[in-house]
Amino acid sequence: MELDRRTVLRWAGAVPALVAVPAAIPEGGGEWERLRARLAGELYRPGEPGYDEARLGFFSLYDHRLPAGVAVCANEDDVRRCVDFAARQRIPIAARSGGHSYAGYSLVDKGLVVDLSRLNAIEILPGGRAKIGAGALLGQVYEALAAAGRALPAGSCPAVGIAGLTLGGGIGVLGRKYGLTCDRLESARFVGADGKARPVSAETAPDLLWALRGGGGGNFGIVTSFTFRTAPARTLTNFALTFPPAVLADLVAAWQEWQPAMPDELWSGMGLGETAANCGGCFVGTPAQVNPLLDDLIRRVGTEPTERKVTEQGHLATMRAFAEEKDFPAAARERADYVATSRMLTHPVPDPDALASLLTSDPLLYTIFDAYGGAIARVPSSESCFPHRDALGSIQVIRGTAAPGGEAEARRVIGRVRDELGRELGPAGYINYIDPEMPDWAKAYYGESLPRLRRVARKYDPDGLFAFEQGLAR
Ligand SMILES: Cc1cc2nc3c(=O)[nH]c(=O)nc-3n(C[C@H](O)[C@H](O)[C@H](O)COP(=O)(O)OP(=O)(O)OC[C@H]3O[C@@H](n4cnc5c(N)ncnc54)[C@H](O)[C@@H]3O)c2cc1C
Repeated sequence: MELDRRTVLRWAGAVPALVAVPAAIPEGGGEWERLRARLAGELYRPGEPGYDEARLGFFSLYDHRLPAGVAVCANEDDVRRCVDFAARQRIPIAARSGGHSYAGYSLVDKGLVVDLSRLNAIEILPGGRAKIGAGALLGQVYEALAAAGRALPAGSCPAVGIAGLTLGGGIGVLGRKYGLTCDRLESARFVGADGKARPVSAETAPDLLWALRGGGGGNFGIVTSFTFRTAPARTLTNFALTFPPAVLADLVAAWQEWQPAMPDELWSGMGLGETAANCGGCFVGTPAQVNPLLDDLIRRVGTEPTERKVTEQGHLATMRAFAEEKDFPAAARERADYVATSRMLTHPVPDPDALASLLTSDPLLYTIFDAYGGAIARVPSSESCFPHRDALGSIQVIRGTAAPGGEAEARRVIGRVRDELGRELGPAGYINYIDPEMPDWAKAYYGESLPRLRRVARKYDPDGLFAFEQGLAR
């Protein structure tokens, strides 16, 4: 969830940076041609027209990675054929939904990218359920559900993929009322390392369903569709309070006591940096109901905001507002350059002044707090592997790389902040803000769920076909 995406993108710039690709089709062409012939969708190989457009994800930091092939699958059978091919050829394979992995894990060097963007059908089922193809992007999901008067709690960037988001948890502005996206996951269809497609439900594969509810994208196999329990699309009130940057510590001190005392209907987050001390969020209800609650926060901060916006809107209009009113195809074409890490807010920060100094110690740092609690905290560990149910929230730390020192300096800065936060708050972090340099990453992301998750990974991917740097099959 982002509160001030514009700030980030300003640092990042739109960066269609393409790197040179080999002019010739590499060795092993025969097997690849056989794969191409078997696919209903398209296959792009290095040197072929369309290869660059087909391979690139959201972050241009990873543009140097050159997959041996990008298969744009047309159906589940194509996914099965790709898995079978990668297993026989012994090459790395990675699924791609929205391509927003912070570590670029859906762009696999010298391997096969299984692009799911054509598997984006959204079907409204009886009983308020929805079957969503694994290649659908959040903007597409919100629009299709809104047309049926339904909503799904999920993230605010319209170009993030439903698959990566759900598989890692899925935090968003309705989270305290309706839970994480993965908490609404009822069943799925899945292609395992054996190349077989199977339904995943509480009846057919309870261990795998548990693991898909937060166990991280890229593990176990490839999900081809998700069936969710949706919620009614209610009229919402979204709000944004802009405080003077000098009161950042007061805002943190007030927010971390105020938010947990609020009803589930109220979700909020903070966007903090050298020039930002903002609190924004969403209320399932009316302005008349939320305004006194905001007055309470302002009283606790002890300083009036310089700007206060409170807007009542339908669900779809609210999600568009969080996406800064960008039209959906434009958002899907956007690219960026920044790095991120995270920690969990396991308890209120005891020294908000020290925290404020840390978060403003570099001019390009931007930190986003997202509230947990409410429905998120009420899901038992038997239902979902997402391990951070008791956290007050998550803390995402991001920094642009388009500055002197580039990516290395940006990673050094966020690493320093991450480690400092970890000393106070503990080692946990959010898998969807995956940081390739996260210390002891498996425990940080999966906590007590780790041993069982590794058992599930061994069961569905015994030979480690889906192994990657921070994957559970390693
Ligand atoms: C701008 C931006 C905004 C964000 N906002 C939010 C937010 O509001 N809330 C939140 O919780 N998170 C948010 N995130 C984090 C986001 O949830 C993760 O980056 C997520 O992994 C992206 O999913 P994707 O499908 O777009 O990415 P991808 O790069 O396509 O996939 C991510 C990982 O999942 C794997 N994967 C993809 N599809 C499948 C599949 N069908 N089956 C199995 N594995 C698969 C990939 O191989 C990769 O390892 C945001 C990230 C960005 C960059």
